[in-house]
Amino acid sequence: MVQPFVALPDTRIRQKCQIVVAFDQSLKNLIADLIETSEVQENPPALGMAAPQIGVFKRVIVAKIRNKFRPFVNPKITKVSKTHGAYLEGCFSVGGKYGQAIRPLEIDIEAQDASGKKISRHYKGIAARILQHETDHLDGILFVDHVYKQNGKIFRVEKDKGGKELLVEESYA
Ligand SMILES: [Zn+2]
Repeated sequence: MVQPFVALPDTRIRQKCQIVVAFDQSLKNLIADLIETSEVQENPPALGMAAPQIGVFKRVIVAKIRNKFRPFVNPKITKVSKTHGAYLEGCFSVGGKYGQAIRPLEIDIEAQDASGKKISRHYKGIAARILQHETDHLDGILFVDHVYKQNGKIFRVEKDKGGKELLVEESYA
């Protein structure tokens, strides 16, 4: 089922999530909810989602990779590349803001699938970006934390007089 988002200023989004030990029906339901909630998002579309974003504080994420939402249970990024790059990120738990976050461009990730089978993969490009953003959520870390630490640019969505959305750069206090 499509679920409502947990978003700032709700501090639950900062919670550290628990390791999944039972690969049961409730885990399958959670993965289905994450995928359904991702698939209905249109403006902006979802590229991934983490369980805490729908109020379940377990280490489960989904990421859109090669056009399909794939689950990663207990994901752990085990290696990152020395090469880094900036990319404009947004988040359903950080409404109305976008920011250029600098992250490693390639990662190795270990996780389990819905039945508990171990997965070990290397990703680059947008997939590596999504997986880092979503895995961060499981430790209560948001993309804006990286942007602020990097003194990067944060943009806020505003509407002009005609109702057209535009990005306005936020200045630091
Ligand atoms: Zn997010």
